[in-house]
Amino acid sequence: MDKKESKEFDYSLDTLRHSASHLLAHAVLELFQGTQTGVGPAVEDGFYYDFLRDEPFTKEDLKLIEKRMKEISEQDIPLEKFTCSKQEAVELFQDLGQDLKVELIKEKGGDKVTCYQQGDFVDFCLGPHVPSTGAIKHFKLLSVSGAYWKGDESGQQLQRIYGTVFFKEKDLKDYLQMLEEAKKRDHRKLGPELDLFSTDERLGGGLILWHPKGAAVRAVIEDFWRREHQKEGYDLIYSPHIAKLDVWRTSGHTEFYDALYPPLISDNVEYQLKPMNCPFHIMVYQSSQRSYRELPLRWAELGTVYRYERGGVLHGLLRVRGFTQDDAHIFCRSDQLEEEIRRTISMALRVLKTFGFEEFDVYLSTRPKKFSGSVQDWNEATKALEKALQEEKIDFSVDEGEGVFYGPKIDIKIKDALNRSWQCTTIQLDFNLSEKFDLTYVGEDGEFHRPFMIHRALLGSLERFFGILIEHYNGNFPFWLAPVQAIIIPIADRHNSYADQLKQELKKREIRTEVDKRREKLGYKIRDAEKNKIPVILVVGDKEMERETVSVRVHTEGDKGSYNFKELLEKMLDLKENKDLEIIL
Ligand SMILES: [Zn+2]
Ligand SMILES: [Zn+2]
Repeated sequence: MDKKESKEFDYSLDTLRHSASHLLAHAVLELFQGTQTGVGPAVEDGFYYDFLRDEPFTKEDLKLIEKRMKEISEQDIPLEKFTCSKQEAVELFQDLGQDLKVELIKEKGGDKVTCYQQGDFVDFCLGPHVPSTGAIKHFKLLSVSGAYWKGDESGQQLQRIYGTVFFKEKDLKDYLQMLEEAKKRDHRKLGPELDLFSTDERLGGGLILWHPKGAAVRAVIEDFWRREHQKEGYDLIYSPHIAKLDVWRTSGHTEFYDALYPPLISDNVEYQLKPMNCPFHIMVYQSSQRSYRELPLRWAELGTVYRYERGGVLHGLLRVRGFTQDDAHIFCRSDQLEEEIRRTISMALRVLKTFGFEEFDVYLSTRPKKFSGSVQDWNEATKALEKALQEEKIDFSVDEGEGVFYGPKIDIKIKDALNRSWQCTTIQLDFNLSEKFDLTYVGEDGEFHRPFMIHRALLGSLERFFGILIEHYNGNFPFWLAPVQAIIIPIADRHNSYADQLKQELKKREIRTEVDKRREKLGYKIRDAEKNKIPVILVVGDKEMERETVSVRVHTEGDKGSYNFKELLEKMLDLKENKDLEIIL
């Protein structure tokens, strides 16, 4: 969602949201005595607060809490900041029976501790906040779910109440409406309804079964992706799904990466399911001595990786444990860096636009406090990224110090039909792996040099991107992507052979086509095709058979009248070829 900051207020939306979490905790402690409070930050689309309480909060409880929050808001109680010694703060929260807060203060508090108070409610917090509870007007509690104290799964189980708040009533209304709409087009609902994919507890969580229809869409995406990469001068490579654990020791994954599956052991050798493709591409690079003349090398792979995400964060296609990255690595000289980045950005935008995304937010993240590589390399690379963005005339925000430890990066977020943001493209420099694997090339001077290594994914992963596409289009895929592009409905059995003949013609031209020969009423079959969101419906009866025509319906638009079949076929081929987002016949 957009961070709708407002000039009328001298505090940010995040401050409003975080203050709303105080209001929430205030109301909860008044209504449910003995409850302990955890933490209550502002988050992407609102805020939450974690509570320790034996009884689960019910939907009815949320209504009560919300009502109490309204009352406290109306009382317009000032939020007052005070500081005290760490010991005083510990005693204060001990007296209040807030043991979790005591623990936090002991851990995080300095000699002086800041607290905020509104009426009887006091919280250990740095702020900032709104001046008084009256500022928090347009809010709504949304849900309650489980959470762990400090995110530690072996720790105490808490209850997390989520809510949202906006400056203006209209923004809140729009947001709630968007949530309703998002619920309707949730890919976890549409996926099975449209027979696209499923998960199965017998397999384990976060592992996706692509059904024929989902796989058909995936194949189109992959074909398009491969062709675009070949056009852009990439070579395709393939790599295995497991490798000796030592590879991941060298890369540092065993030490720093906490989503590794446990190793497998065969003949006393430990193997690791791959969490990333990078070391494999590096090994291809190292399979021969590279010269400056060969660079840049651009290697792309639809590489399937496995990461053991915690059960609680798995979410349909969006957070999974096995997924296929549309990965690539570019190895180049420093004088090629800017050009490579520029090409990657423009390719990313072109590919994303083809899928129907028009709005992008671009972020450049720079050197964090802890980093590998030299300051000089970081400066040179960051400058190259910046210049590439400027060359491409792209507006971007700089996330100062937010780069990953191994290099600066560019992230591109897309906006979907509901104006939600999704991170897709990431372009990252890596000074760490090139060092750890000691990558070299022989320069013009005959000396060894270290190449720049760029990791990049355009779509992210095919699973996640498919989830985003399903929701963006509400399952109504554009013609070129639709799992079934056309369905032929014969009116009676005697039209079946004509229908089969048309299907053959369409199949020959690689248009994904089905024939519905069921002995059902025409209206029923049309409704069924509409329900399955098939873009083009061809109805054939006596008249059509005789004149070699078809009667055409376009999904969500209705009847388009009679068409000469050959003409229609050409139009469909155009739609496919041009990757049109709408069907205009
Ligand atoms: Zn606070
Ligand atoms: Zn990589």
